[in-house]
Amino acid sequence: MQSLYDVHSSCPYITRIYSVGRSHQGRHLYVIEFSDYPGVHELLEPEFKYVANMHGNEILGRELLLQLAEFLCEEYRNRNERIVRLIENTRIHIMPSMNPDGYEVAADQGPYFNGYVTGRNNFNEVDLNRNFPDLNMVMYYNEKNGGPTDHLPLPDNWKEQVEPETQAIINWIENHNFVLSANLHGGAVVANYPFDKSKDLRVRGYRRTTSYSATPDDKVFKALAMSYSFAHGWMHREFNCGDYFPYGITNGASWYSLSKGMQDFNYLYKNCFEITLELSCNKFPKEAELPRGSGMGTARL
Ligand SMILES: [Zn+2]
Repeated sequence: MQSLYDVHSSCPYITRIYSVGRSHQGRHLYVIEFSDYPGVHELLEPEFKYVANMHGNEILGRELLLQLAEFLCEEYRNRNERIVRLIENTRIHIMPSMNPDGYEVAADQGPYFNGYVTGRNNFNEVDLNRNFPDLNMVMYYNEKNGGPTDHLPLPDNWKEQVEPETQAIINWIENHNFVLSANLHGGAVVANYPFDKSKDLRVRGYRRTTSYSATPDDKVFKALAMSYSFAHGWMHREFNCGDYFPYGITNGASWYSLSKGMQDFNYLYKNCFEITLELSCNKFPKEAELPRGSGMGTARL
């Protein structure tokens, strides 16, 4: 993470580097924070986070976040009004890699041989986006039987259910009042919003894997997802990487249902509005393809 330290030494007064914990093999999960008072929660200032490379072989988000950190620092120094305002009025936390162990495996193999799955999981072969406590189950139960449907508590034995990377993220969420978040992936090009887990997996006796599962904040989530897909050069086009998504957005469960994902967890645990950004058809594009953020592959997620 030399490039994070370079950013910090160029912009020492508005940045701070910290680690939220370690991976299975002991690598730090580093975050760079941007704020006019780094390390301090200022009253009424929203806390925002970006997390990339949760799947170690999906590298575009990682590169983008390193570049975003450089960009924020440079533009602050250039007194770019919009960037100065952002840094003064919000607190931005950027984690370029949530799965540094998986990344090393994928990077060893490189772009020419990278398969769908090499380096996707953590060292323990666990998919971190299927590793969070299943609060959807609790919420769906409470919806029918009474009980809270947000700010849901963690199960008593949650630490035994999760990997070290997941545990570090949960502690991080616990200790900051994040209100907005994005989780960066690759393998498709679309902005995906909760819920990821379908409410009705069984319909008329057969297994149905896709059904639109809206949160009570569906309109806000659609607007958030669209604000990204339309700011992106071509995400908002309806056909990308062989998929069809009107306006370049999708409800997670209406695409395919996913249990124990990070996005639903953020929302149900702390009311943090997280969306998942799928940023490239190819999970591990070659360096020359990075500027367009593309590749012609059709690998999924
Ligand atoms: Zn992914």
